[in-house]
Amino acid sequence: MNKKNILSDLPSVDEILKSDTGLAWQRIYPRPYVTRAIREEIQMQREAILNGTEKVFSLNDAMDRIKRRIEDLSGFSLKSCINATGVVLHTNLGRSVLSPEVLKHVADVACGYSNLEYDLEEGTRGERKAHIKQLLKEITGAEDGIIVNNNAAAVMVCLSELARGKEVIVSRGELVEIGGSFRIPDIMASSGAILREVGTTNKTHCRDFEKALNENTALLLKIHQSNFRMVGFTGEVTINEMVALGKKHNRAVMFDLGSGCLVDLKPYGVHIEPTVQEIVKAGVDVVTFSGDKLFGGPQAGVIVGKKALIDRIGKNPIMRAIRIDKMTLAAFEATLKFYIDENIAKEKIPTLAMLLQEPDKIKARAKKIAKALKRKISGDIAGVSVIEDVSQSGGGALAEVQFETFAVAITPAGISVNELEMRLRKGNPPVISRIKEGQLRLDARTIRDDEIPRLVVAVSSAVSAAC
Ligand SMILES: *Cc1c(COP(=O)(O)O)cnc(C)c1O
Repeated sequence: MNKKNILSDLPSVDEILKSDTGLAWQRIYPRPYVTRAIREEIQMQREAILNGTEKVFSLNDAMDRIKRRIEDLSGFSLKSCINATGVVLHTNLGRSVLSPEVLKHVADVACGYSNLEYDLEEGTRGERKAHIKQLLKEITGAEDGIIVNNNAAAVMVCLSELARGKEVIVSRGELVEIGGSFRIPDIMASSGAILREVGTTNKTHCRDFEKALNENTALLLKIHQSNFRMVGFTGEVTINEMVALGKKHNRAVMFDLGSGCLVDLKPYGVHIEPTVQEIVKAGVDVVTFSGDKLFGGPQAGVIVGKKALIDRIGKNPIMRAIRIDKMTLAAFEATLKFYIDENIAKEKIPTLAMLLQEPDKIKARAKKIAKALKRKISGDIAGVSVIEDVSQSGGGALAEVQFETFAVAITPAGISVNELEMRLRKGNPPVISRIKEGQLRLDARTIRDDEIPRLVVAVSSAVSAAC
């Protein structure tokens, strides 16, 4: 057949649109996507025929490809993924996971009207920050609290209100960069505060702070080093020392905690840092932390502390630019409510529940996944086994904590481990895994039970499909 003959086999866009399949697509998908997918496919076929790479035209194959194109076009860019990395707080995978109960409350509030800024008692204008104030006070023990868009914004507004044009003393060892380009010196500069570094990289003493104090000092700032650790000959000024120094010189003390943990994880062998309650109790004037790290809620920045200071911060004009929306507020209040009873928090907040899981439970889940995979994948296509492993369960405060875990180890026969990792990542749903010791590992810690069926289908088709 010559090129001209093959070209004449190509249907027109209109013919496909009017076919039974074409009409069926238009009932399910937006018409512009259907038209575009057909047009693009025909165009591609025409070019392939003209340059000789395509010798025959198969309508069936073309229709399959058009369907895939329409599905790609109709799908979302931001979509749910299966996290098989074992990293519970994974910044690139959306940090904390919200519980269905929290989401139900968000839907209740967002699908209709709400009392977001309406005082139901008085029938007058109300304040959005009023909804979580009382609960934040009760749970953290602080005199007052507000929330903003994220912790970076929280730090920014605090510095701007408390130290614009004035000096903020910070230990050199705490001038860190936190993932996603949050750099303390830069935040400080954009807030209008003047950074006054003291001490050395590895050691800072209380006397370094005291020497730097002058009439232009507004704030003594402590910053959690997050995923950065110093070992060896090191020394930092403790919270108690800073609070004592602040009191002595009548200066406010602020602590950017980053993660901010509200339940004591020491009984579980996780020795990361004091809880927010302990830091508040120590007398720190302003404490900031993220809503979507260990707290386990939506993206937010929490500011708690002394009433007089929180009042001032709440009135800063920047607040209007970084205020949270009603969906975040609903998710935050619903998450915060779980903390009324620590045992409920540990059970209902997915971040905490995943971190505190018994290794036996993780092992049982890994076995369940492996068993289901073995039913679908024969031994000559890939080896599947359950293996004891360790997972780094999160960035930030958890970066150096190693958790005992169990993973499903897969060794494909026909394709490389890297190829399998890529296919899973690009699949539907995307599965994010890790490679260790030449095996693909699916860490069962972060896989939800209800995700297992989809995971099994994704893995077995990725491992079996030809190159
Ligand atoms: C994570 C972190 C931040 C930034 O918090 P976001 O909520 O991501 O804006 C700031 N400071 C510290 C110490 C952190 O760990």
